Amino acid sequence: MANPLFDTLFGQHIGSDAVFLHLPGNETLTYGRFLQMTAQYAGLLTDFGLAPGDRVAVQIEKSPQSLAVYAACAQAGLVFLPLNTAYTADEVAYFIENSGAGVVLADDAKRDALAPIAERCNARLETLNADGSGSFSDKAAAFPDTFETVPRDEDDLAAFLYTSGTTGRSKGAMLSQANLLSNAQVLLKEWRFTSEDVLLHALPIFHTHGLFVATNIILLCGGQMIFLPKFDLDQVIEALPRATTMMGVPTFYTRLLGDARFTKDLAQHMRLFVSGSAPLLAETHIQFEARTGHRILERYGMTETNMNTSNPYDGERRAGTVGFPLPGVELKITDSKTGETLKQGEIGEIEVRGPNVFQGYWQMPEKTAEELRPDGFFITGDLGQIDADGYVSIVGRNKDLIISGGYNIYPKEIELLLDEQDGVLESAVIGVPHPDFGESVVGILVALPDQDPDLEAIRKNIGSSLARFKRPQKLVVLPELPRNTMGKVQKKALRDMFASTFT
Ligand code: ATP
Ligand code: MG
Repeated sequence: MANPLFDTLFGQHIGSDAVFLHLPGNETLTYGRFLQMTAQYAGLLTDFGLAPGDRVAVQIEKSPQSLAVYAACAQAGLVFLPLNTAYTADEVAYFIENSGAGVVLADDAKRDALAPIAERCNARLETLNADGSGSFSDKAAAFPDTFETVPRDEDDLAAFLYTSGTTGRSKGAMLSQANLLSNAQVLLKEWRFTSEDVLLHALPIFHTHGLFVATNIILLCGGQMIFLPKFDLDQVIEALPRATTMMGVPTFYTRLLGDARFTKDLAQHMRLFVSGSAPLLAETHIQFEARTGHRILERYGMTETNMNTSNPYDGERRAGTVGFPLPGVELKITDSKTGETLKQGEIGEIEVRGPNVFQGYWQMPEKTAEELRPDGFFITGDLGQIDADGYVSIVGRNKDLIISGGYNIYPKEIELLLDEQDGVLESAVIGVPHPDFGESVVGILVALPDQDPDLEAIRKNIGSSLARFKRPQKLVVLPELPRNTMGKVQKKALRDMFASTFT
């Protein structure tokens, strides 16, 4: 095949009248029309003098046009580099500099702030707005709506995807065509996607979840997407009757459950609800089933690997777990210090190997060598365990592990207990500096609506189930936990907030 990624995901649909996207205002976009726009974009990008392997950085709102830039990069053999739309110009500067992007696409509103950065980095800056207008689309209109696909190999790079920066500075994960394709093929089969599917898409498309997991599967099966600009409860509830499947972060599901319009009737016809990117509370899983009769399918992945594990489509979807390694993915739990594989049931580093695992971090050879073993296993930075039936569960991140008085404390164990307490909606447990113990435990609670958790009673309750060294030395109630756009709790922000609690 001349260009496996383009041909498999996009090329098969050239000239097709089938609907690809349902857009706000009852508009639809066919595959054929989408790929004509793609061809024009590919023509323009090539005309800018970009050569295969060059990077195209985009910080644009979610729109059919932004997806067409992804497709155009694939067709022209360029490396697609999407950026979180919330990043400020200063933050974007890092990504442009770090990636050596040849072209930067941004909203008109960001043009002035980004112009000096683009100039400094020798990158060409063009604009593409949420409504499809901008200098980029104006210029592209003059190009033919067919484009001769640039040959690429499946080992060639297709995308640089920067990690979410939850544990430190974002790293550019280099993903090959084969990384993306292999994962889409496996997920399509595991989750039974067909051309009959209509996916409700309310995720951002600068992140692996909305971009690769959701979009690549739909492209592969030739299904349709209800393409919402963002998660808006009213819009989601309005669109649900027309969808067959939905993918979301846990907050999508808690927000749906918080709305009385989200009923069994509304969800009955749905085939599948998928959750990932952050832990889904077992409580949410249970409530969701009670309300709708559906068991949310939770899976686990990351920027560097796409998806690694999934609960089964048929068979038990076990709350609080992320299921089994996907076909082709090897997963082991190892000792952080020695790298030895641990016994079943023990907690350790999750390591994965497979065709989905990335090619390394861009221009970070040391970081790559630290996390990617010579035998191909990637040390994910997540801690987990495997139960007797083979279900994997995530215990937390290695960097969130608390070491107090020389003992390892896994925040998740304490969070699960705190979540069960009267009046508590959810919790986060962190370690902060302590003069005697190195670190000490702080428990942060969020109350259920209109409730006021009794901290003394909670302290007593958990005291009977937790060894003394694990008990939070401080319990506090916050109105909500700090989260990023992917619903990830920002523990680093919490650690900063409580850094001087004991010092
Ligand atoms: P950084 O690597 O820059 O610190 P990040 O790890 O948050 O940021 P992503 O690649 O977006 O960046 O997120 C992957 C991480 O999200 C995983 O390593 C894991 O910690 C978490 N995650 C994903 N799915 C799940 C899940 N189902 N349950 C628990 N955690 C999950
Ligand atoms: Mg990470």
